[in-house]
Parts: sequence; structure tokens; C-alpha cells
Amino acid sequence: MASRAVDVINTAPRFTQADADALNARFAGVDAATMLRALFAEGTLGRVAVVSSFGTESAVLLHLVAQADPATPVIFVDTLKMFDETLAYRDTLIERFGLTNNSVIQPDPAVLAAKDESGLRWSYDPDGCCAIRKVEPLARAKVGLDSWISGRKAFQSVTRENLPRFEVEDGRLKINPLADWTKDDLDRYFEEHELPRHPLEAAGYLSIGCVPCTSIVQPGEDPRAGRWRGWDKVECGIHGSDGDGSELPVF
Ligand code: SF4
Repeated sequence: MASRAVDVINTAPRFTQADADALNARFAGVDAATMLRALFAEGTLGRVAVVSSFGTESAVLLHLVAQADPATPVIFVDTLKMFDETLAYRDTLIERFGLTNNSVIQPDPAVLAAKDESGLRWSYDPDGCCAIRKVEPLARAKVGLDSWISGRKAFQSVTRENLPRFEVEDGRLKINPLADWTKDDLDRYFEEHELPRHPLEAAGYLSIGCVPCTSIVQPGEDPRAGRWRGWDKVECGIHGSDGDGSELPVF
């Protein structure tokens, strides 16, 4: 794959599946920290940002990115349904890691007024709620990006078990540096680097999203079992096909 400099990547589609395949092959067996440093140093990713939910495992990816380049843009989608603890955790991690380019995107007020005036859409149409509170705001934030970095891991659920490190979505490269990390790998990284834990993790919240759609995970359950409990829904729609909604977004 040809090396790309930030200022020359202005046309879409910018990345192809062949690019993703080449990157997957090139970085096979290379640790995530080394891979990110190389990608940033070479400008391979073009205009890139990290999308973080500031959930229970977010500190690992953000720490890795901060080590590679603390000026990397970090995007947080605030659905206006977040836990106060998550907002506080975000502040903690930003300060601790020295991240200098942070943005918060929120749902469009006009869309909320038209489609979720009561604020209760999550209770009868969670897919529609995610679409207006997560998918649309993130789609807005991704305009102008050539690539984005996600914290997804293959072990998180059966829907992610074949997750590659590099994917292409609508001509945009999506990087999953932690795709092959296990829960033990994450825990070890937390300990080695003395990273702060999300304030709600100790209470049993193993995967944290919006307040109405997050519950405690019981022993033996899939780590994401606490998301949208009672609904046939496992993703929030920001991953997978945003266009046809075949996989609705999850942070
Ligand atoms: S996780 Fe729940 S509250 Fe948050 S956007 Fe999706 S349906 Fe709405």
C-alpha cells in the first residue's frame, strides 16, 4: 500500500479493502503500541481520530494512542443519557494521559425535538434512539476523516469474534488495535501502567453505555450482556453498516 500524507488525502474513497488487507498482513504479530507508533509516524492514517465511549476498557486504547501521539483527536459521543461517572472518568483520563485534542459531539437538538421529545425513545425503539443519539452525531463527526480508531475487541461478543485490525467502511479505514486482545491482556495493561478504572466497574458494570440501557453483568454472562438487556439488540449502530442499519451502533 502506498504511504499517504495527511495533506494529500482529500478525495473519497480514500481506502480500499486491498489497503486494509495489506495493513493486516504487514502488522500481523506486531504489538499494538508499535503498530500505532508506526502508523502515526508514517502518516498512513491521514486525517484520523479516536472514537471513545470512556467506558470500562477505554483507558487502554487511549493510553496507547497518547503514547504514540497525545495530539490525536479524541471524539466522545455524548448521547445526553450518559452516566455522570462516565463524564468524570473522561476528564480524569484526558488529564492523566495529556490528550490535547478532545471533542464532544451531541445529538442535533432539532432532531431530538422531532423524534425524541419525551427523551423516552430508548424505552420503545432503542434502535431509533441509537440512530439519533449515536449514529447521526458520529457520522457528522467523521466527515472529513480518512480513518478512525475504535476500541472494539473480538472477545467482547460473538458478533465481534472475527474482528480484523483493519477494516474499510465507506472508503474510510477503521483501525481496531485491540482486536486480538483478551480480557487478561487488558487487565495486565491496566496494572502495568496503573491506569484508573471506570468508577462503576467495581459495582459490576462491565460494559457501560447510556444510563437507561446499561445494567450490571452477572457472573458467567457475556461481558456485553448488560447492554440493552431484554432487547434483541447487541450493537448500537456506529460499527458495521451504518447505512443499512444491519448492525446497529455500540460503543
Ligand atoms: S444506548 Fe439506549 S439511551 Fe443510548 S442512544 Fe442507544 S437506545 Fe438511546
